[in-house]
Amino acid sequence: MRILIVEDEHRIATSLKKGLEQEHFVVDLAFDGISGLDMASEGNYDLFVFDLMLPGKDGLTIIKELRAKQIHTPVLILTARGQVEDKVTGLNAGADDYLIKPFSFEELLARIRAISRRPQNLISASITVGDLSLNNQTFEVSRGNIIINLSNKEFVLLNFLMEHQGKILSKDQIISHVWDYDADILPNTVEVYIRTLRRKVDLPFKNKPSLIKTVRGFGYKISA
Ligand code: CA
Repeated sequence: MRILIVEDEHRIATSLKKGLEQEHFVVDLAFDGISGLDMASEGNYDLFVFDLMLPGKDGLTIIKELRAKQIHTPVLILTARGQVEDKVTGLNAGADDYLIKPFSFEELLARIRAISRRPQNLISASITVGDLSLNNQTFEVSRGNIIINLSNKEFVLLNFLMEHQGKILSKDQIISHVWDYDADILPNTVEVYIRTLRRKVDLPFKNKPSLIKTVRGFGYKISA
């Protein structure tokens, strides 16, 4: 799951990014409303977290402009205590939920999970491809009854492949969903990660069909 956080307080923004990355989210940051709106309009995000008071363009304006562009990605608003009217206006403007500052990281995580569990967002906790299963709430991956240990990035990549099982995903699509904006991605990075995933997901299971497939010239897919 890829998240864009727009928050002008750098300390809050970077600590949220750090915490969410530990929970296997892919996180981009913007520190003002204008670059926030640009990134939100162009990127492939599953969730936006917007502070309300931002330089350049405030959070509510960003939401209105995104909704006008038919971008309906869920939005979680961060707001200072006492701006109750802002919150109500925010929800009217198309925000999905709000959180009053200061908040605990656990509270934010709970709200993010709640938003992503809503049926319209179609992100289910457990995904299976053949006998491979991945749970994106507990981060458990197993094949048959063997637990598979993955690094953070390997997990995010496998999750992305499994969410689109049966479909061919290009390297560009994979890079834009699995790595954040600032990451240094070399052309063969995706190949390297796919190879590692195969070593964990397919190679140890010699009597079973390989699930991760290379479609030469196009990309990769996972299917049973
Ligand atoms: Ca602010």
